[in-house]
Amino acid sequence: MSVVLGVDVGGTKVAAGPVDQAGTQLAPPLVEASRTEDTATFLAGLELTLRRALDEFAGFSPKAVGLACAGTVDAQRGVVVGSPNLPLVDTPVAAMMEKALRLRVVLENDANAAVLAETVAGAAMGFRHVVMLTLGTGVGGGILLDGRVYHGARGGAGELGHMVVQKGGLVCACGGHGCLEMYASGPALIRYAAAWIGNSERDPGGVLGDLFTRGLLTGEAVAKLAHEGHPGATEAVRELGVWLGAGLVSVSNIFDPEIIVVGGGVSALGEALLAPARDQVRVSAMPPAREKVLVVPARLGNSAGLVGAALSVWGRPDWGAEGSVRA
Ligand SMILES: [Zn+2]
Repeated sequence: MSVVLGVDVGGTKVAAGPVDQAGTQLAPPLVEASRTEDTATFLAGLELTLRRALDEFAGFSPKAVGLACAGTVDAQRGVVVGSPNLPLVDTPVAAMMEKALRLRVVLENDANAAVLAETVAGAAMGFRHVVMLTLGTGVGGGILLDGRVYHGARGGAGELGHMVVQKGGLVCACGGHGCLEMYASGPALIRYAAAWIGNSERDPGGVLGDLFTRGLLTGEAVAKLAHEGHPGATEAVRELGVWLGAGLVSVSNIFDPEIIVVGGGVSALGEALLAPARDQVRVSAMPPAREKVLVVPARLGNSAGLVGAALSVWGRPDWGAEGSVRA
């Protein structure tokens, strides 16, 4: 089996394209809008998009389809247990699409797909023990242990955004309190910046206050200001990094990974975010990992879900003789 159709199934759009076993995208993906009004409409729309993609990429002869979507996914059974942005509850998506398309269909959680993609073709190439955090509106996680994605007993493993970093802290969308997601996500960055509004030293000229009043205080705006050296925005990014670091200390202590990959929109902050996070690990994690574990930005960006979805069909990286992934 040499080529698979990788599909990133999102709440606003579905992207599908041919991928080979090295994680190379062989053509620009077909992108179509998701129809999330209800379960039946969504599934009919997904089937149609997959048919169009298989038709468009017929020249590559894809032998199977890999789907990645947000939410709790029972990859073993091909069932979406629940999803924050898709109208699916205990839906056997893989079996339904297999029946419709008469092709093998594999289903995976999007963050699990991303860690697989980064390991085969991205920032963690050649490593076997990899943890990835995806920082955006929320915080996602994927865990690769000894070369295999770890799913847990029911497919719910890897929810690193919901580890508690502050007992009795802010209420999270999951119902818990003090989850990492509340302190190391895009909305948290905005909150840290907004805290300096009215402080003439940290917000000279009232730039943050002005953006806030006009409804323009976004994560991107804070990132841009930090890049330009604005003191309050710079401090907000550092604070985000320190909280991320608190999470990474636990990740390092629990998994002893060789490398931690940080992706998602917020990771565009680069070293301004990663350096304070790495410092936390160097100071507070257990040896020997604290000196050794690498903390690096993701490389594949938005294509990680699609590429990883395809790679899920093969299940695990193709290890070379020296224990590294064959290119
Ligand atoms: Zn939570």
